[in-house]
Amino acid sequence: MNPNSSTARGPLLEICNLRKSFGPMEVLKGVSIGAAQGDVVTLIGSSGSGKSTLIRCINFLEEPTAGEIVLDGIVFPAMGRDRRTRKQNAELIALRRKVGMVFQSFNLWPHRSAIENVMEGPVQVLGLSKKDARERSLGYLEKVGLADRINHYPSQLSGGQQQRVAIARALAMEPEILLFDEPTSALDPELVGEVLRVMQNLAAEGRTMIIVTHEMQFALEVSSEVVFLSKGNIEERGKPSEVLKSPTSEALASFLQRYR
Ligand code: ADP
Ligand code: MG
Repeated sequence: MNPNSSTARGPLLEICNLRKSFGPMEVLKGVSIGAAQGDVVTLIGSSGSGKSTLIRCINFLEEPTAGEIVLDGIVFPAMGRDRRTRKQNAELIALRRKVGMVFQSFNLWPHRSAIENVMEGPVQVLGLSKKDARERSLGYLEKVGLADRINHYPSQLSGGQQQRVAIARALAMEPEILLFDEPTSALDPELVGEVLRVMQNLAAEGRTMIIVTHEMQFALEVSSEVVFLSKGNIEERGKPSEVLKSPTSEALASFLQRYR
C-alpha cells in the first residue's frame, strides 16, 4: 500500500499492543486503539491509569517499551531511542509533524505575543516565510475566536484564551491528527466552555483527534469511540452512549459516578 495515497484505506492511526514501563512498573499493558480519518477517540480513566503516557507515546514523547504506532501506513515499532537508523529517525521527525499536541498547561512562550507563538512552528520547523506564517497564523487565531487578541502576551490572556492560542498553534502546523491531554483541566470552570466549543468545531470539520478528558458531556457529544483505561488496560470501549450511559464493568460504573 502506498502510504502517501489518499485512497489508502484503513485507519489513519493505529496504536498496536502498546506497552510502557517505567523501571519495574508497567503503566501500559498492551493497549490497541485505531482512529480513521475524522474519528474522535476520547480517553477516560482515573488519575494514574496511563492516559497521558499513552498519548505521549503516540508521538514518541515517551518511548514505548513494546508494540507499535502506525501512522499513514508507516510502522514505528518500539525501540530504544539510540537504536533507530538514520531513516527511522527521519521518519520519526515526519511523524511528529503530522501529530499536533495540546497540553493541559498551554506551554506558550511567555515573552511572545499570541501570533508570535503561533508563527514559531511554521517559521522554524516548516520553513515558511514570516509573511506566509503570519497570514496562516492569523487565519487560525481567527478560527479559535482570537482575531482581536493577536498581539496580546500570554499573561494578558485568560486561561481559556491561552488554551485557544495553543490550539491555533497546533493547527498552524496543519497536522493530520490532534492530541489533547486534558485541555480544560487547568481552567476555571467558566472558561471550559469556550475551549470545548473550539474543539467541537474541529470535530465537526472532520479533524481526527485523540482527546483525554473528564468532560463527560463533551465526550458524549463528540466521540466516535470512548475508551476507558484502567490500570494500564482498556477496561471498556465503544460508542459514547453505550460506554458513558450503560457501563458494564464495575470500575467504569464507579468512575462515572464521580463525574455525575
Ligand atoms: P494519567 O494521565 O492517566 O493520570 P499517567 O500516564 O500520567 O496517568 O501515569 C501513569 C503512571 O505512570 C502513574 O503511576 C505515574 O506515576 C507513572 N509515570 C508517568 N510518567 C512517569 C515517569 N516519567 N517516570 C516514572 N513514572 C511515571
Ligand atoms: Mg494525565
